Amino acid sequence: MPVPSTLACGHTGCVAAPVVQWQRQHAVEETWTDAVYACAAHAVTLDLAAMIHQPTCPGPNALTLPQCGCAPAPPPTVPLPAGPALPTGW
Ligand SMILES: [Zn+2]
Ligand SMILES: [Zn+2]
Repeated sequence: MPVPSTLACGHTGCVAAPVVQWQRQHAVEETWTDAVYACAAHAVTLDLAAMIHQPTCPGPNALTLPQCGCAPAPPPTVPLPAGPALPTGW
């Protein structure tokens, strides 16, 4: 799938510049997510934007805003690897 040269709000027919982004599960490959963009008028809530949305998520959708229309799942928690110790004072 070609990458669009300019990002646009995901709401059908909206050409406003996106200001928020969230992730939608790829329909075919479970380990992929697609980025979904929305302008200020079509953004879902911050709580929803922090979730991974279903491949069939219709958002942003004027009929469901500020909800997205699906039941998103929290992203998998990946523990951060322990890094080297920082010097005192950092
Ligand atoms: Zn929009
Ligand atoms: Zn959704």
